[in-house]
Amino acid sequence: MANCTRCGACCASFRVDFSASELDTNSGSVPCGLAVDVTDNTSRMRGTDHVPARCAALTGKLGQKVGCGIYEWRPSPCREFDEGSDACNHARRRHGLPQIDSANFPIVTSPNIVLREPQPGDLGWVIQQHGEIYAREYGWNQSFKGLVASVVAKYQRDLQPEWEQAWIAEVNGQRAGSVFVVRKSKTIAQLRLLILTPQARGLGLGGRLTDEVIAFARAKDYKKLVLWTNQCLTAARAIYTRRGFTITHSELHEGYGSPQVGETWELGL
Ligand code: SF4
Ligand code: SF4
Repeated sequence: MANCTRCGACCASFRVDFSASELDTNSGSVPCGLAVDVTDNTSRMRGTDHVPARCAALTGKLGQKVGCGIYEWRPSPCREFDEGSDACNHARRRHGLPQIDSANFPIVTSPNIVLREPQPGDLGWVIQQHGEIYAREYGWNQSFKGLVASVVAKYQRDLQPEWEQAWIAEVNGQRAGSVFVVRKSKTIAQLRLLILTPQARGLGLGGRLTDEVIAFARAKDYKKLVLWTNQCLTAARAIYTRRGFTITHSELHEGYGSPQVGETWELGL
């Protein structure tokens, strides 16, 4: 991994085929909007069979700074691809990048993670990130961004600091995620707007933000924590499941330009 965030050559060299069971529509994690069907049982990362190849999930500039937009949810061939392997060096040669000696990787330094209260400009960033990330990864339309804007506006307008809180996560000094907790009633708190940038995935940050909300709600003596999400958001759902949330209601809706299953989850505190 030490070289990967400055490389991306394999994501712009090889076809990436995987079992269709890994798609989020089949209870897997790979966003179906970024894949194409090859057969009934096989899917392919979109763009990896183009000439020149470039996976639709790859962000940034090859050989300089890159990221996988679905790092936490990437398909199994990407998880199994070894830095420093023959295939890795083959891809790097193709893109004019120096060879890697697998026995001599540089040491990876830990990212510096900070969770802090919002500062001027942060709430606008939360809206913009929701709009951009969900449009790119799920094809959601502007009505979703509008919903997020209304949640943020209400938070800002009606904030009860004793009962409500928001956190912005920073990784190495850059905004990387958010989560909010708001007061639904005297006994019920609601978790909202949990999001991570693609570059911040895989660091356990989604879990840390959720844990902050749970600890805050317990400290305020709320009896229950609720949230609303969508069935396709498998990584977030896994975080909630691991912390004991359960689904209490689900319904079909057409809110963001395609049919979705909305879900209400709750956790007794
Ligand atoms: S080609 Fe090798 S170094 Fe480059 S991103 Fe792929 S695994 Fe990492
Ligand atoms: S899913 Fe991510 S890791 Fe896999 S090829 Fe695409 S950009 Fe690379």
